[in-house]
Amino acid sequence: MAKAGTEQADQEDLDSLTDRLVHLHRALYAEARQALLIVLQARDAAGKDSLIKKVFGPLDPQGFAVHAFRQPTADELERDYLWRVHLRVPPKGAIAVFNRSHYEDVLPVRVYGLVPAAEWGRRYDQINAFERHLTENGVTILKIFLDISKEEQRKQLLERIDDPEKQWKFRPGDLDDRDRWEDFTAAYEELLRRCDTAWAPWHVIPGDDRKRRNHAVARLVVATLERMSPRLPDPDPSIQAHRARLS
Ligand code: ADP
Repeated sequence: MAKAGTEQADQEDLDSLTDRLVHLHRALYAEARQALLIVLQARDAAGKDSLIKKVFGPLDPQGFAVHAFRQPTADELERDYLWRVHLRVPPKGAIAVFNRSHYEDVLPVRVYGLVPAAEWGRRYDQINAFERHLTENGVTILKIFLDISKEEQRKQLLERIDDPEKQWKFRPGDLDDRDRWEDFTAAYEELLRRCDTAWAPWHVIPGDDRKRRNHAVARLVVATLERMSPRLPDPDPSIQAHRARLS
């Protein structure tokens, strides 16, 4: 009974957070002066997709986008690794979620040695400079690492193997990454340490409890938007004079 009560309160809270999120997004869009970029990183099967649907689903699709970063295409590999990322930075007035991001360029790239160590080793400073450049140009960056346990990942991967609705999501490559769990841990620890800057700090959210985690992310996004304090533009002082033309 007590548990049900708590769940209900949590739910109400998420609903009111969602209302605030929708309202703040509308003001951001109308104001069209600043943008919010949410960087979402997690290990495989952490449930980024369901989090995005749950927390951001109610937003007006105008002024909102989700960009997934997968293995770079041949075209992308011919450019510097930040090129494809910069192209998808939200314009003024918009919110974008990066479902994976430029941090992949110091995660699998580092673990599997896809570029020489000297090359990925320079990327932490480059990423910090890139993020600083964005924040100095009207883009607020909110970086979230959803931290799931190895046991939770096992559970989720088994579901992908067994549930016909989820089988399409299963990639044998996820098991390779799982085999390198410790290497990915080291790579995550380094980026969390070196790229936790004053202008774009990291937020680590425990990911095993999906309801709590959605709630924590919604709270963070709302708090960030409140700090940005977008305002609906003031109406033209002569707006009422236009009524006459509609009579
Ligand atoms: P997700 O797991 O996010 O739902 P996918 O199943 O399509 O998406 O997996 C995308 C894969 O692409 C991940 O294994 C990720 O590590 C990989 N990836 C993303 N960016 C890069 C990159 N720059 N270099 C190498 N691999 C990358």
